[in-house]
Amino acid sequence: MRKMRRKGLASMAVQTVASTTNSGNAANGGNTVDLGPATALSCRECGHRVPLGPVFACEECFGPLEIAYDFSGHDAEELRKRIEAGPSNIWRYAPLLPVPADVADKPNINPGWTRLVKADNLARELGVTGGLYVKDDSGNPTHSFKDRVVAQALEAARAFGFTTLSCSSTGNLAGAVGAAAARAGFRSCVFIPHDLEQGKIVMAAVYGGDLVGIEGNYDDVNRFCSELIGDPAGEGWGFVNVNLRPYYAEGSKTLAYEICEQLGWRLPDQLVVPIASGSQLTKIDKGLRELIELGLVEDRPYKIFGAQAEGCSPVSTAYKAGHDVVRPQKPDTIAKSLAIGNPADGPYVLDIARRTGGAVEDVDDGQIVDAIRLLARTEGIFAETAGGVTVGVTKKLIEAGVLDPSLTTVVLNTGDGLKTLDAVAGTGLTATIRPNLDSFREAGLA
Ligand SMILES: *Cc1c(COP(=O)(O)O)cnc(C)c1O
Ligand SMILES: [Zn+2]
Repeated sequence: MRKMRRKGLASMAVQTVASTTNSGNAANGGNTVDLGPATALSCRECGHRVPLGPVFACEECFGPLEIAYDFSGHDAEELRKRIEAGPSNIWRYAPLLPVPADVADKPNINPGWTRLVKADNLARELGVTGGLYVKDDSGNPTHSFKDRVVAQALEAARAFGFTTLSCSSTGNLAGAVGAAAARAGFRSCVFIPHDLEQGKIVMAAVYGGDLVGIEGNYDDVNRFCSELIGDPAGEGWGFVNVNLRPYYAEGSKTLAYEICEQLGWRLPDQLVVPIASGSQLTKIDKGLRELIELGLVEDRPYKIFGAQAEGCSPVSTAYKAGHDVVRPQKPDTIAKSLAIGNPADGPYVLDIARRTGGAVEDVDDGQIVDAIRLLARTEGIFAETAGGVTVGVTKKLIEAGVLDPSLTTVVLNTGDGLKTLDAVAGTGLTATIRPNLDSFREAGLA
């Protein structure tokens, strides 16, 4: 393994598959692993197929690998009934995910089926008449959307015989991996920049796994993990967002499924989705297209809008300039969970925004804080900075006449405000008074 390190990540990853999966004669597309309807990995660029395994890049063209499925034989009405009778978590969609059929019986964090809030007060403030909804993913077990993707990666790790779960993270992912590993009896070893906020460190460390601070920034952490994957020290390790990335990414499809089911098996007209690597946005689009193909929702147009922070806006910058390539940026924003300066799925996000008639927009840190307060004040939902980004971008796009206020619109809140308290640090007491009525009146509160 060690001498492969020079050949780059993709070739290392492809070679790992041979040593980790057995070539077999099982019914499942020649794979011995049982990941339900998943049949193979397929290159998004050139279509080259390889058996299901812990690989993420095409051996032919280095393009990203995606899960290919066999969804044949589904009757739409039966499938809808089966989903509705399923558990109140993402496993109700097990027939559409790369997981074994009995996934709901295995120890996992079982995220999802979070609330879809009809945000009438916010709609009134923003002038939306067609119905405005907030998909509030702060309700997941570790209070961010990351539980959806980690739950998928855990099942893939189990299928491939890994015993350690790992990742590089700036916070949310670390907590999700720590919790999933604890619940499933895996070892976890998670890498973060050593100078993260204390709150994020505690929220990741409390689950009892190893949490390693790296002296460097997030890019340094990533580089280190790439090295570890190609080294014997990393053998038997499932890196949820590297060698398990194709499986991990599919977890985001469940956001699309849930939104449509919660709207009564109906597509929203417009969705506003945050962009870090862009994976979530591309998989929401994939999930919506699958529902159309399966006949679970009516085939009609929808628009996907991407949201970034101005201090890390490589995709919106490319979108506005009319470019197809995304130029990396050095992030500087309070929306740290979205601060990926070189987003892997950036070009695919541009394709989707343009194909669906959406757009990509950004808001500055002040607008993010204002939007966090706006959502809290109108709907009683305390969002993390990523939610401030989507609500802020929604407001901006309505004011610019880009988002149509007469259409049904779903805005994502992907994390809990308790994770980013610093963003609203100025918030506090209205007054401090002595414990008597005179003092209360003097404060002007009577
Ligand atoms: C990771 C994350 C996202 C989306 O990330 P992608 O890399 O674009 O899939 C969105 N919101 C929060 C809070 C996150 O932690
Ligand atoms: Zn390829």
